[in-house]
Amino acid sequence: MKTPKTIRKYCKHCNKPTEQAISAAKKRDRGTLKRGSIARGKGRGRGTGLGNKGRWGSKPTKPKMLGKKTSKKRDLRYKCKECGKTSIQRSGVRTKKLVFE
Ligand SMILES: [Zn+2]
Repeated sequence: MKTPKTIRKYCKHCNKPTEQAISAAKKRDRGTLKRGSIARGKGRGRGTGLGNKGRWGSKPTKPKMLGKKTSKKRDLRYKCKECGKTSIQRSGVRTKKLVFE
C-alpha cells in the first residue's frame, strides 16, 4: 500500500482540518504474559518495584502465527503539525508492504 507522508485531516485537538504527518507505529516488545495476567499480577502487587522481575518483566515472546498470513494490519499514526499531538487511525489496514511516498 502506498500512502503519502502528509495528509490534510481533521484534528480533534485543534478542532479544524490541519496538515498531519503519517508514520507507522513502532514495534514494541511484549512480554510472555497475556494482558489479563499482567492486570491480575499488578492487582496482586507483582511486576512493580526495582530490578529484574522474572517473567513479570519485559521479555519478548516468540511470534506464533508467523508464516500463516502474508499480510499484516498496519498501525498508522497521524501527527498534527500545529499542536504536535498524535492520533491513531480508526481501524487497521491489512497490507503486505507499507510505502511512504
Ligand atoms: Zn492539532
